[in-house]
Amino acid sequence: MDCLFCKIINGDIPSKKVYEDESVFAFYDIAPQAPVHILVIPKVHIPSMDGISADNADIVAKIFTVIPKIASDAGLTNGYRVISNCGDDACQSVKHLHFHILGGAQLSEKMA
Ligand code: AMP
Repeated sequence: MDCLFCKIINGDIPSKKVYEDESVFAFYDIAPQAPVHILVIPKVHIPSMDGISADNADIVAKIFTVIPKIASDAGLTNGYRVISNCGDDACQSVKHLHFHILGGAQLSEKMA
């Protein structure tokens, strides 16, 4: 499958990994939009939020249990933001479900 994030998971494309277990992978965003900008992704290929169903929702629950640990390990003790862009209107550029963790500074009150 020609998916950038699947290639990162497989090690075919290098990344700055911050977390990995049997089903979740996390790494620093290559073009950070905050002092700390980490991407958290399922190892299984799900194209976007629209691909979440009862059959695979367990991985999303798992990701949301891992995010606080990743944020804490990254030093985000004063808060952080989690975003998932879905589809063209949200400017999703990589069609593999991912959650942005943004922090390390006071973020904008505006989210769009
Ligand atoms: P989105 O626009 O929500 O689809 O987010 C995709 C994110 O992937 C963007 O923030 C990009 O900067 C990031 N990105 C693209 N290529 C890479 C890469 N090779 N390594 C790390 N992050 C990447």
